[in-house]
Amino acid sequence: NQSLAELDPEIAAVLDGELARQRETLEMIASENFVPRAILQAQGSVLTNKYAEGYPGKRYYGGCEQVDIAENLAIDRAKSLFGAAYANVQPHSGAQANAAVLHALANPGDTILGLSLAHGGHLTHGMKINFSGKLYNVASYGVDEQSHRIEMETVRAKALEARPKVIIAGWSAYPRQLDFAAFREIADEVGAYLWTDMAHFAGLVAADLHPSPVPYSDVVSSTVHKTIGGPRSGFLLARDEEAFGKKLNSAVFPGQQGGPLMHVIAAKAVAFKIAAGEEFKDRQRRTVEGASIIAERLAQQDVRDAGVAMVSGGTDVHLVLVDLRHSDLDGQQAEDLLHSAGITVNRNAVPFDPRPPRVTSGLRIGTPALATRGFGAAEFTEVADIIATTLVGGAGTDVDAARARVKALTDAFPLYPGLQQ
Ligand code: PLP
Repeated sequence: NQSLAELDPEIAAVLDGELARQRETLEMIASENFVPRAILQAQGSVLTNKYAEGYPGKRYYGGCEQVDIAENLAIDRAKSLFGAAYANVQPHSGAQANAAVLHALANPGDTILGLSLAHGGHLTHGMKINFSGKLYNVASYGVDEQSHRIEMETVRAKALEARPKVIIAGWSAYPRQLDFAAFREIADEVGAYLWTDMAHFAGLVAADLHPSPVPYSDVVSSTVHKTIGGPRSGFLLARDEEAFGKKLNSAVFPGQQGGPLMHVIAAKAVAFKIAAGEEFKDRQRRTVEGASIIAERLAQQDVRDAGVAMVSGGTDVHLVLVDLRHSDLDGQQAEDLLHSAGITVNRNAVPFDPRPPRVTSGLRIGTPALATRGFGAAEFTEVADIIATTLVGGAGTDVDAARARVKALTDAFPLYPGLQQ
């Protein structure tokens, strides 16, 4: 019964160091968030000890009476939150949720059509050395070179040419909303399934700040840890349980996974409960507002004069994609510079990027974690100015001054007050 600090001081030091890092920096990686303490508690619980292969009421192990309650709560809450007839809350991660979707909807060798990785798609949407690129015949659509938007006529032309079994709507780095009705029409026209991966914007959907893909898609997959702000994991939804429920259940277990992570499933139930509340809606509203404030600042003349632009010129979601193709900074340098100022972002390829993926000509900047931390318009205005000043200043930036401004913000919004790991 030793504590972690007694048993393994090296790992205890990592936890302490990471808590300090999260407290002292501005977390702006668009796919990250801060879970509430109730979720840390559920995830760090004795439920991690339990094997529960199968589904509630139909397990292959005894002693599942408590975890059945947790999984049923998570399922019911996910269905009600997103207005879906079916939910599966067992996928360990977003990638595993996606593997299960393709397992259920296609056979190896079938054609899938998704947004290319280079234009903001995800690895699991057909990247060459991902399982999706190895098992399936991949066709992809990109964004328009001028507008940087997904033009539905292009998607339609690609679908007519490739005749895919599955069309994928969804992205990891795209700052605009998708036209789900148009995707549905195209899928119907070519006889394809429509799968939407809403991993990034699920929280906005839950808060009614983004159109829902559920009524239009055959299957919807998502993560729980990005805008929703729950435990690191995935889930699946479908509006037609009869057509897809059995297929998806068996694709998750035994198709892709063994024992579900019951501690994480309990934490998902908590996350969905929180997501049904008014505070969550307000947080998502501040998330989107924060991204717009950053986009407005980055559209100003001093930033444009430094050769810094934005993919599609702005945003209507929780992230901004900075386009550095005409800046003195590349993605790696800009990421490092903001890091030295205490702001954590990730470099990201932009469409038509001339630089290799390890360097890139872009930055992905997201607001979900800071909105969870409590930031509103005033704080995002300050953050936007720190980012703009740093990108304009480049190598000549006064990093100490930027760091001091970051510290004032982190001090004013303490993270996990009182928590000790
Ligand atoms: N789908 C999309 C659109 C994503 O952006 C991501 C994560 O980056 C995933 C799936 C994969 O999620 P995970 O990292 O949990 O496997």
